[in-house]
Amino acid sequence: MDDLLKGMKGAFGKGGERHEPSTLRGFLVLLGQWRQGSIPLEPLLNGVDLLQKVALEALTESRADIAQQRMDIDFHETYERLHQLLAELSDELDVLRAALRGGQPVLESSVILKAILGEIRQVEDELSSWTDGSVPVCIRCGSKGPEEICASCHLERLYPDPNMSDSLESAHLGGDYLRLYKAYREVIEGDRPLRSLAALLLPLEATLQELMRLARHSDLEIAHEVQRGIQGLQDFRLGLATRKMRELNQGWDKVYASAVGLVRRLPGLFRQVGRPEEARRLEREQAMQDGASFSE
Ligand SMILES: [Zn+2]
Repeated sequence: MDDLLKGMKGAFGKGGERHEPSTLRGFLVLLGQWRQGSIPLEPLLNGVDLLQKVALEALTESRADIAQQRMDIDFHETYERLHQLLAELSDELDVLRAALRGGQPVLESSVILKAILGEIRQVEDELSSWTDGSVPVCIRCGSKGPEEICASCHLERLYPDPNMSDSLESAHLGGDYLRLYKAYREVIEGDRPLRSLAALLLPLEATLQELMRLARHSDLEIAHEVQRGIQGLQDFRLGLATRKMRELNQGWDKVYASAVGLVRRLPGLFRQVGRPEEARRLEREQAMQDGASFSE
C-alpha cells in the first residue's frame, strides 16, 4: 500500500513546483502564459507531451501494483477514482493537443483541466488520511478501524510515519542486527506482525548491556555509541506499544548508527579489557562481511 502512495505524492495535485510542466499545476501556468501570448506554442506542446507521459506512467505502474495485492474496499475505491482522473487527464491532453495544432480555441480544455486538478487534489486529501499517521491502518491492505488487528491480514494496524525517508542505510552488519533489520523492514512493509519484533530485540539488548558494562569506565566514545543503540532499542519497545511507525524508524536509525559507530572500535575495547580472542573473532567477521552488502 505504501508503495502505491509514494508514486502519486505531489505529482498531480498540490505538490509540484509552480513552473514545472511535468505537474498538472505547473502545466496550467504554462497554458495561461501561452493564452496571454507571453510564450510560443512549441514549449507548450512539449509540456502537453511531458505531462501526458507522466500521467500514463503513473497509471500503468499503479494498475500493476493494484492487480497484485488484496486491498481494503475504501482504499480501493479512492484509488480507483484517482485512476479514472489520470485517464481523463490523458484524454483531455489529446483534445488540447489537437486544438493547439489546429489553431482552435482551448478555453474549454483549460476549464476541464482545472476541474480535473481540483478533483485530484480532493482525492489526494483522502489518500493522505492513510499516510499522515493520524489513524492506524493495515500496511498490507489499507484497512482502517478501531480494532488493533486487521481481520483479513492478521497484522497490527500501525500509525504511518509521514516523514519516512526512502533511503535505506546500507552497511556490512551481520547476525542479530541483520535479523532485526530484516524483520523491521517486513513489519513496515506489511509482511510481518509487529509483535514478532519483541523477540529480536532481546539478544541485542543483552549484547549492548554487556558492552555498556565493559566500556563505561574504559572508553567513553564507545559508551556513547552503546547508549545510542540502547536508546534505539527503547524506541522499538515504545513502537511495539504505540504502533507508531515513526518510533520504529527512529529506533532503527539509532540502532544502525550505533552499530556503524561500534563496528571498528570494538576490537580495541576487547583488547583493553583483556579479551584478545574476542577482538580477533570480531575482526575476522568484519573481514568476511566487508564483501557482502547489508541491504537486499
Ligand atoms: Zn489488512
